[in-house]
Amino acid sequence: MLEMFKGYKGAALETLQKYKARVWGETVIDTTRGTFTGIILPRSENDDDRHIVLKLETGYNIGITVGTITGMREIGYRKANYKIPEKEFPTSPEKPNVRLFGTGGTIASRLDYRTGAVIPAFSPGELYGAVPELADICNLTTEKLFGVFSENMGPKEYKTLAKAIGEAIRGGIDGIVVGHGTDTMHHTAAALSFMVQNSPVPIVLVGSQRSSDRPSSDAALNLIHATTTAAHSDIAEVLVCMFGPTSDEYALLHRGTRVRKMHSSYRSTFRTIGDFPVATVQKGVVTPLRNDYRKRRIDREVTVLPYFEEKVSLLYYYPNMMPDIIDSLVDKGYRGIIIAGTGLGHVNKAVYPAIERARRKGVAVYMTVQTLWGYAHMFVYDTGRDLMNLGVIPAENMLPEVAYIKLGWALGQTDDLDRVKEIMLTPVSGEITRREPYNGYLILQGGVPEVEHFLKTFHK
Ligand code: ASP
Repeated sequence: MLEMFKGYKGAALETLQKYKARVWGETVIDTTRGTFTGIILPRSENDDDRHIVLKLETGYNIGITVGTITGMREIGYRKANYKIPEKEFPTSPEKPNVRLFGTGGTIASRLDYRTGAVIPAFSPGELYGAVPELADICNLTTEKLFGVFSENMGPKEYKTLAKAIGEAIRGGIDGIVVGHGTDTMHHTAAALSFMVQNSPVPIVLVGSQRSSDRPSSDAALNLIHATTTAAHSDIAEVLVCMFGPTSDEYALLHRGTRVRKMHSSYRSTFRTIGDFPVATVQKGVVTPLRNDYRKRRIDREVTVLPYFEEKVSLLYYYPNMMPDIIDSLVDKGYRGIIIAGTGLGHVNKAVYPAIERARRKGVAVYMTVQTLWGYAHMFVYDTGRDLMNLGVIPAENMLPEVAYIKLGWALGQTDDLDRVKEIMLTPVSGEITRREPYNGYLILQGGVPEVEHFLKTFHK
């Protein structure tokens, strides 16, 4: 796309062209709601096509709806200097080869503080231009697959990503890094855990909570930790690599099916749920915290299973849920429902008939728990037993989002509900475990040093 219209498309692009306006132009815009003067900022490729974004002299950015614009006049030009040069990556035959797939998210964007613009096309290539340490770790090649914030990732993207990873592995790559928005990174990690099996090399998802030019950004360090893991660790699993403690002491590697984003803004947002993390990464060293992980083995053949049934839903139970919610899913042709129930796996009696109807119509219904830690134990109370009699299957200690992804993946492969059950309840990559360590949440996840620090403030 032309620099002068950077990020603009559809109606917004037409409006710029009509009035001969351009990005970085200091512009007077007449609208039906008044006249505004400011600098037209570039937009992200993920943004809508109905607004022109203007940085006002006050420093505020506003979005002007194109339908309200009656005239535009350029009175000056003030281009922000935001480009990070793509650096030629120094390679050497001694270093392992790592492929970085870009999907989007904060890790692929940065802010320009002079203009306040969110700079979009921050390609993985530019990213490693900005993090020269990467060259000490591996020979890095990048491929941008998508440029989306992660709420826009879905089955289509999962399949494309799984296939691309499979190809890179078959091509002999030593490790994979996937740059991804953090919000749904755990969904994608689960999808890859099921879709890419038997990998001989590590597959490491990484993101950042703060964009790469903020002083507190976690982007560079996360990338360094993730590439270190992909290049040098012997953990050939799908992993999420992000800050362990809130400080930048070390990163944690979480198993792709046991991880969840748990804080909306902390850099240490990811936590392994129901288990211990797999390893820490600190100053170029990966230290396993357990030994039951799948080891790197070059002679192993990767299997790519890119299946997904989109008509699957995840229902978060709340008191007074009405049966019509479930009825409408069934009527709309949904083939699978994961319920995140209360406690050991409960819903109110009012929805029982709807669940029974769903089962009669051949919809697969599985129960997970909102508590996240622990198992759906439906034998304990009558209500749990009643639900099981209606055909609801407890999904052990699979996390609700993971069960959602797995059910989509299972129903994408077969209509046979017995086979689906077999797939659902046979662990592929740690999504069901035999027991949960009682102290997993506190230990080894960055909790303890922070608690100590906190306590010290009382014992001065
Ligand atoms: N909303 C962003 C995303 O998930 C947040 C991030 O990248 O951390 O894509």
